[in-house]
Amino acid sequence: MSTHDHTPEALAALLAAQKQAFTAAGAVDAATRRRRIQTAIDLLVKHHKPLVAAMDEDFGGRHPGFSLMNDVLGSLASLKHARDHFEPWMAAEKRQPFMPYDQFGAEAWVQYQPKGSVGIIGTWNAPLFTLFAPLAYALAAGNRAILKPSEIVPRTARVVAEAVAEMFDPLDVAAVTGGPEMGAAVSAQPFDHLVFTGSTEVGKAIMRNASANLVPVTLELGGKSPTIVGRSADLATAAFRIAAAKAANAGQLCVNPDVVYVAREQLEGFVAALKDAFASFFPTVAGNADLTAVVNERHLARVEGYLADAVARGARVESSPAEPVAGRRCPLRIVIDPPAGARIMEEEIFGPAVVVQGYDEVGEAIAHINGRPRPLALYYFGEDAAEQQRVLDNTLSGGVTINEAMFHAAMHDAPFGGVGASGMGHYHGREGFIEFSHVRTVFKAPAYDPRREWGMLPPYGEHFLAAMEAQVTP
Ligand code: NAD
Repeated sequence: MSTHDHTPEALAALLAAQKQAFTAAGAVDAATRRRRIQTAIDLLVKHHKPLVAAMDEDFGGRHPGFSLMNDVLGSLASLKHARDHFEPWMAAEKRQPFMPYDQFGAEAWVQYQPKGSVGIIGTWNAPLFTLFAPLAYALAAGNRAILKPSEIVPRTARVVAEAVAEMFDPLDVAAVTGGPEMGAAVSAQPFDHLVFTGSTEVGKAIMRNASANLVPVTLELGGKSPTIVGRSADLATAAFRIAAAKAANAGQLCVNPDVVYVAREQLEGFVAALKDAFASFFPTVAGNADLTAVVNERHLARVEGYLADAVARGARVESSPAEPVAGRRCPLRIVIDPPAGARIMEEEIFGPAVVVQGYDEVGEAIAHINGRPRPLALYYFGEDAAEQQRVLDNTLSGGVTINEAMFHAAMHDAPFGGVGASGMGHYHGREGFIEFSHVRTVFKAPAYDPRREWGMLPPYGEHFLAAMEAQVTP
């Protein structure tokens, strides 16, 4: 814990004050919601340079253009989408009352109400996006929020906390900094909703903590996102696009391709094309400012450990470019057909390595995917419509991109989230607004109540039982 960090007591006081302000303010009109979203937009516009510089420093090398694209523009896109679309989402929706009350003038509707205060715990790999993208939809739904940036990127966390303190009334939006102990403190507080982005293991601890207060959770977790390259795919295009995905943030992205399944007779051609494509992005590793570094020594040792384990088990590993790791900048290591049980086949890679595994029949890849925890993303490359449908119908994943990797996660007009071990709940789009709203059904009874006249209230009339029996129909 650094001297700048907040204490759990300060967090508890902040949340209590936000909840009190929420109750006192009553309904949250569109203008208030728009003003809050706009403040978040203005924050990113005003502070984007120090934020980008902090991310570069925290990673020990992350291109400012990439940080702008991934974190600043990615967050702005979510905030602007929410700002420009939320108003119709707020409107109450008329629903059909049941018989016979519909005949007597009953009315029913669904009201989308803010829940209160939303806790948002972010990751280091996309340190702004994992805070501001959920914030966009939490604010659109009329909530207040407390952000908890990742301590793995401490400078970024501090700039976020200072910028939030400068731009927002803390009763609307605040940020608290700290490590796992602050993550635990956030998840132990009685928030009205909690968004956690991070690893599956920590996600379980977060949900356990949240259960003590019955806090509903959105868990944006990770996993080994599989990629199937069908025989009908253009091999060079598939390899180029997968290489471009691995090039992004050195593979440190939740939806990054992890295991790539390729038809056995195409495997060598695919590996060669993947190496060529990656080297075309990064002809050198050492000192290459375009190449994001692995965030710290611990994560580098983690990825290198998977690679050493695969080599020790006899797997072939190719490097592109054929250079050693320089500092924390790494070539892409391609692990070919590692044996079952290899750590790289068990753990999410989340770094500059990829597995390429051969198949004889695409059903083997589908079976392998289904034998593992549900992934966050799945990719299919190919022109065979029947095979594409077979893959879509016989697998489950948070989302899918076809003939590309990661693009579905950039959709604003569609939900983003995981399933099973890769998480629960969504943000993005109208589904994100609904996630952070309480969807409340209101039934307004008509003046006339037919139950007494129809013998439906005790003491029951002689026809009541027969009338009920008559309605038990197939
Ligand atoms: P992490 O789980 O280590 O940490 C995430 C956050 O939880 C941090 O703010 C951290 O301080 C906090 N935390 C850590 N340990 C904690 C504990 N014991 N109790 C409470 N809080 C704790 O994850 P990470 O390394 O920052 O991020 C990598 C993981 O996140 C990968 O699995 C990746 O796939 C996933 N991820 C998912 C998405 C998504 O949208 N689904 C996006 C980015 C990353």
